[in-house]
Amino acid sequence: MSSPKTAIIGGGIAGLSAAWFLKEAGKTPTVFEATDHFGGKIISKRMEGCLLEGGPDSLLTEKPWALQLCRELGLESELLPSNDGQRSFSILHNQRLHPFPAGCKLFIPQKITPILTTPLLSPSGKARMLMEPFLKHRAPEGDESLADFTRRHFGQQTLDRLAGPLLGGIYGGDPEDMSMSATFPRLQGLEKKHGSLVKGMASMMRDAQKRSRAGTAPSLFTSLKSGMQILPDTLTSKLDGFLRPNHPVNHIQKTSSGWSVDGEDFEQLIIALPARHAATLFTEVDTSLSTLLSQQQSSSSATLSLVFDRKDLESIPSGFGFMSAHPLTSILVGCTWTGNKFQFRETENRFVCRLFLGGPDMNNIILTGEDHELIQPALDALRTICPFIPEQPLAHWLQRWPNGNPGYTLGHLDWVRKIKTQADTLGNLHFCGSSYGGVSVSDCVKQAQELVS
Ligand SMILES: Cc1cc2nc3c(=O)[nH]c(=O)nc-3n(C[C@H](O)[C@H](O)[C@H](O)COP(=O)(O)OP(=O)(O)OC[C@H]3O[C@@H](n4cnc5c(N)ncnc54)[C@H](O)[C@@H]3O)c2cc1C
Repeated sequence: MSSPKTAIIGGGIAGLSAAWFLKEAGKTPTVFEATDHFGGKIISKRMEGCLLEGGPDSLLTEKPWALQLCRELGLESELLPSNDGQRSFSILHNQRLHPFPAGCKLFIPQKITPILTTPLLSPSGKARMLMEPFLKHRAPEGDESLADFTRRHFGQQTLDRLAGPLLGGIYGGDPEDMSMSATFPRLQGLEKKHGSLVKGMASMMRDAQKRSRAGTAPSLFTSLKSGMQILPDTLTSKLDGFLRPNHPVNHIQKTSSGWSVDGEDFEQLIIALPARHAATLFTEVDTSLSTLLSQQQSSSSATLSLVFDRKDLESIPSGFGFMSAHPLTSILVGCTWTGNKFQFRETENRFVCRLFLGGPDMNNIILTGEDHELIQPALDALRTICPFIPEQPLAHWLQRWPNGNPGYTLGHLDWVRKIKTQADTLGNLHFCGSSYGGVSVSDCVKQAQELVS
């Protein structure tokens, strides 16, 4: 008897991982991908001999699932830790770059002097931040926003100048709407256990230091020497025969034994699509599921990689880059000095930086604007802060992500639960990917793995 057939719609890292785990379990997956590119938001490119990333540039080491997958696929020798000797970054505030206060873990202070001396916070902002261990923090019933959570502990300035850029930046979201329980449950856990985040983080760091002395603490970010795309490329090569590129699925239907996908029968169906794409597929199948899926908000962003001739730069910056304080005052959300963060990205004569573009006022321009409407303002904003950057790059790559950042807004976990309940009612239907159980590449791999186990 043939093994049960599973259709997977979406060939990003979530869909490919699901196919890989199914294949390893002896099942028969078929991945339908709308384009000829497998990997979705994971896309790498070479320009002027430099290695550029249009989407993710690294895996978060503390989330181990993608790293485990890399090892399983034989990519161990590709794993590339970040240059942690250079691990510092700045916050852009009032048109100036300020080093992120040393001794903070995330945005939670572990040393007093760097907070007292940072020009990022006013005296009252510093006092409010340092009072945290001595105040009582009462968590509200139910979900809470990142903004409210941070304000309760450290005040508005810490939110605008440290937590917002750092944590909001990961999700491209507005901290006022971002669900703590869906995005940073570990911080809520620290509050629950220790009351104060400062005390909780100190305890966590003591544990981490013990592990570090035992030689087990890895760098924070891990990339892949040949570029992030080697991960989906390797999956693609190992899934030969199971993939349908250039096949945008338009029609699904429930059948007596499972699902029909564009007229082909399958027992199981895995939707590895952003929720708004999934919503359109379910309009005729189940209106309430389609409505539910369409409720997820999303925001748009873009990356702009710039390659310069090193000899044209008056000086070379140090550190990994910077993030902009809130509220944003330009198109520039952040910037990575690519070659400082990872080896093997630049050639000897080239300097690469990668800008993150976005913010609420930029959504329409990212969706429909001309390239120059993004590139020139971004370059101007960068050169205002970093005058050592030349007027024109040798090469550039603008990669837009229209509605590409799923909104993990208040109530996100309830929304995911409702989708699962509705999917269970229909039967043999599963969802995975960045819209649902975490946005990081590793979270996508984890969701895929959990579906199959
Ligand atoms: C700029 C940027 C930087 C990021 N940086 C990091 C980082 O450093 N580290 C990290 O861990 N994460 C990062 N992320 C997040 C991470 O890259 C994504 O969340 C993840 O790659 C999403 O994978 P996915 O498979 O869920 O979805 P996607 O990658 O969006 O894949 C969905 C796929 O479905 C296909 N599709 C759509 N409709 C159909 C249809 N009807 N039929 C068939 N196929 C269809 C699409 O073409 C696409 O290939 C970043 C994201 C962005 C945008």
